[in-house]
Formats: sequence, C-alpha cells, structure tokens
Amino acid sequence: MQVAPFSARLAKLIRSGGPISVADYMALANAHYYAGRDPLGGAGDFTTAPEISQMFGELIGLWMADLWLRAGRPAGVCYVELGPGRGTLASDALRAMRSTGLEPAVHFVETSPVLRQAQAASVPQASWHQDGGSLPEGVPLLIVANEFFDALPTRQLIATTSGWRERLVAADEDGFSPVPGPPVGSAAIPDHIRHAPPGTVLETSPASVAVVKQLAHLLAASGGAGLIVDYGYERTSAGETLQAVAKHHFADPWHDPGGRDLTAHVDFEALAAAVRDMGVTVHGPRDQGDWLESIGMAARAAKLTKASPDRSADIEAARHRLTAAEQMGSLFKAMAFVSPHWPEPAGFQ
Ligand code: SAH
Repeated sequence: MQVAPFSARLAKLIRSGGPISVADYMALANAHYYAGRDPLGGAGDFTTAPEISQMFGELIGLWMADLWLRAGRPAGVCYVELGPGRGTLASDALRAMRSTGLEPAVHFVETSPVLRQAQAASVPQASWHQDGGSLPEGVPLLIVANEFFDALPTRQLIATTSGWRERLVAADEDGFSPVPGPPVGSAAIPDHIRHAPPGTVLETSPASVAVVKQLAHLLAASGGAGLIVDYGYERTSAGETLQAVAKHHFADPWHDPGGRDLTAHVDFEALAAAVRDMGVTVHGPRDQGDWLESIGMAARAAKLTKASPDRSADIEAARHRLTAAEQMGSLFKAMAFVSPHWPEPAGFQ
C-alpha cells in the first residue's frame, strides 16, 4: 500500500475537519519535518552557528563554566540542551568545560529520532527527554537552546476591519492558504500594536512561553542559568516572520508543509516578560556578534589559529560569519536568565 505524502494527508485532514490554527499547522509540519531527516549542513536545508565553527560551542561551554566557577563549583550540575541538532554545540561545549574541571551530566530535549541518533554519536553519555517536564529537579542546570525557539509553533493574529482575528490555515485543491478565523479579544494585543491597520499580522508563541516558564521554574528552585540564542526581535513587533527554508533558500511556508523547515522570529521581549516574575534575572538580549566578542571570541580564534596555522583563513571567515553585523552578528541575539542565587553572567554588562 502506498502512503500519501504528508502534505496530502494534512490537506485532507483540513478539508474534512476545517481550517487549523497557524500554530497547529507549524507544529504538525515541523514534527514531520524533523522526525525524518537531519536538515543541517551543506547537503541539508540550513546551517547553524555550531556547524559553522567549534568556537561557538566552546565559547558557550566556557561561559557556563565561568558561571559555575563563580557560583562556587556546586556539585551535581547538569548540562541541558534543547533541540541539540547533531550534538555539535554540546560536544564542543563539554570539551571546553572539561578543561575547567566541569564534567556535568548531559540531558537533551529532542523529539526527532533521526537527530537523537546523530546526538548519540557525538555525546554518547547523554540522556534524552521528549520535553522539559522530565528534566532533573533539585540540581543546578546549565541550559542552552540555539535555534530551538524559532522552530516552536507560533500563532498568527491578523487585524481586520472587524477587529483582531486568529489566523487559520485552509486547504483546497490548489494547496494551503491562510484565512482569517474567529475573533480574539484586543486584551491579547499589546497597546502599541492594537490599532495597527487591517492586514497587520502579530505572531505570538504560547508554546515558547510555556517552555521558558518551565525552565525558569527549575532554575529558580535549584540554581543555574539558561541561554537562548536565536534570531528575533528585542521588542514585541507586528509583522509576519513565519518562513520556510529548503536547500538553503527561502521557500513558501504555505507550500509542502513537512518538507521544509518552518520558523518564526523569536519575540525576546515576550520570553523575558514571561519569566521576570518567577525569581530569575534576565540579561540581554544582546546581539550575538557583540556577545561572542565580549566573552572571548578573539582569544579563542587566536588559540585555534596557533594550533593550526594552515586553517587561519577558515577560522577568520567563521568568526566573521558568526559576528559581523551583515552576517549572523546582529539578527541573532543571546539572552540569559539566571537563578537568583547565582552570579552575573558574562557578556551582558
Ligand atoms: N540547536 C541545533 C539544531 C537547531 S534545529 C543547532 O544549532 O545546530 C532545531 C532543533 O530542535 C532540532 O534538533 C529539532 O529536532 C529540535 N526540535 C524542533 N522542535 C522541537 C520540539 N517541539 N521539541 C524538541 N525538539 C524540537
């Protein structure tokens, strides 16, 4: 028996059950997309910072180790990563930590079976979790999520002449398309956006807020710090950022769901606001380039170049890609949230 492609099955589901929210569309599409492939690298769909250079993971590992040392080297600390991809960031970070005497237990939150396999090859000692709900309690956590929150489902709300509405995704013979759905109360819309003209789209990610609250709860109770690195905006802003990427090119997010990576910009203001009253302190967001430079990118590059002088041009190119404003340096941001009993994290002063 031949199984219809995922997008055909999703279209059928929508035609029979009615339009679904953009958040559900994104959740279903990405679950299918990630479950069946390793999308990273030249032969895949997109390349992330840890895949560009080992310096990225090493600097994050040293940033964590520095916090741990200044916190008085607490025992039992765990390294936690959300959406670890191929495990590259983790293995670079853990190697750098080891040089400071920190050898944490490793916990990965990952849903994709294919990527879990890749992660097991890089970090065999890891334990895996479907979601943050089973992460260890009562021990300090050093948490990182790079390009994780952008993949979580986002709702879209759209301003119409009859007020704000939830945006839904409909399907017909021609494919998928967004349509206005039921009204949403204007209390859900920030003041500075509420009176935007019809057609304006506002994205919110309740799934991301729920995850960040869960992490903040653990940090507030048991110590540690979390680091989110992703592309997004510092202030909640109107505008449609849902995008698809396939084979390193932007693609239509309403076409071939499950066959391309769907992401939306991360609203750092909303994430910070969600955890601020939970006892953790929020630092940043700060542009990735500035943050990496201020935690020792130059020294790291110099050390690598000294060890392998023949790679000096590659190392400089990778540094440029990660930090230059016109590359990943300013679209990507870093934000930390830290347990109340822990020291100030480096790079945010
Ligand atoms: N952090 C890695 C990979 C980024 S791609 C890097 O920087 O290279 C997004 C990662 O998040 C993948 O590992 C994907 O499988 C995972 N992911 C996506 N949605 C998820 C979800 N809802 N729960 C857990 N992991 C998820």
